[in-house]
Amino acid sequence: MPLARRWNLLNTLFLTGTLALALVAVPWRLATSGLRWSEALVCLGMVFAIGTAISGGYHRLFSHRAYRASKLVRFLFLCVGAAAFENSALKWSSDHRVHHQHVDTEQDPYAIQQGFWHAHWTWVMEDRTLPITGVADLEKDPLVQWQHRHHFLIGAVVATLPLWVGLVTGNLLGHLVFGVILRIVLTHHTTFLINSAAHVFGSRPYTDANSARDNWVLAPLTYGEGYHNFHHLWQWDYRNGALWYQWDSTKWLLNVLSWAGLVSGFRRVSAAAMTRARLQMEEKKLRERLLLASPGVATPMQERLAAARLKLDGALLALHERHETWQAKKADWRAQGLAKAEAWREAKADWKGAAQAHRAELRIAWAEWKAARLAVRSALVYA
Ligand SMILES: [Zn+2]
Ligand SMILES: [Zn+2]
Repeated sequence: MPLARRWNLLNTLFLTGTLALALVAVPWRLATSGLRWSEALVCLGMVFAIGTAISGGYHRLFSHRAYRASKLVRFLFLCVGAAAFENSALKWSSDHRVHHQHVDTEQDPYAIQQGFWHAHWTWVMEDRTLPITGVADLEKDPLVQWQHRHHFLIGAVVATLPLWVGLVTGNLLGHLVFGVILRIVLTHHTTFLINSAAHVFGSRPYTDANSARDNWVLAPLTYGEGYHNFHHLWQWDYRNGALWYQWDSTKWLLNVLSWAGLVSGFRRVSAAAMTRARLQMEEKKLRERLLLASPGVATPMQERLAAARLKLDGALLALHERHETWQAKKADWRAQGLAKAEAWREAKADWKGAAQAHRAELRIAWAEWKAARLAVRSALVYA
């Protein structure tokens, strides 16, 4: 067995030991004492808080710099995130940035090509030391450095908070089983699902250049991280569920924190850029289906499809560029402190007028694309 495959004893014992303990202790406790409301509430509260600190803190803030956060928010995310027992934010971000940079290759620390369980958790149990790399920006943050040095201790303090509830309510054992042991297992495996299930099950609406999938079932279980196809294409976006109907509780919490002035500088891709990517995938699938049709049907359809997409893509690109220019202008004005000035209102009115014209153009292009798509589908039926 190669050296790199030998087990890391501490990680292996911790991951399998907590799971084994939960598998024995939870049914035993349920059978002997049932489940009390306070136990369920504390357990779920801890799962949600710690999972959100991983999603909003370790992942979107530290790994991807998708927004800026005040010292208080960084401190809280670092302390609460440590209780996930998934290493320090610095190490987590280093591994995660390598995952994005080398996704689906041998350098990817949790490459799905090495198997579902490897991506899920055995990569953590292998005794290989992945160097901390590509996180020079985080190394400059004294809070991140402090958490890196003491993450296990900080995690232990936060993870055992349910025991205080147990002491006060005279139910120490119940809160140990549900609030500490079961909670650790639930936190681990919900995070791990993103590296395993979200690279296997689901759809690829934006890109098929990598294995990442959008999966709406995973989203509520992972604090909104289930839209992994979107995330791999625009990893710097503070959202994972970017559409209004997609579950992304981390995004909602960040929005609330933004209203309170605790976080700012959200980075988001324009809706036009998202639609362009979707369209490209849609055209690709239609083209693949046209390959089955006779050349007499396929050739004119392919031409019509290409022309319709070109027009629609042009309209979307114009809209996207407008969005980018507007964002830059807004940032500029904000920096100059002129946000409320007359110039701002005039520019906004101008922009609205121009945006209306763009939308009209877009509507025509959409109609043409839909007609072309319908024609291809009908042709395929009769081909
Ligand atoms: Zn991924
Ligand atoms: Zn990521």
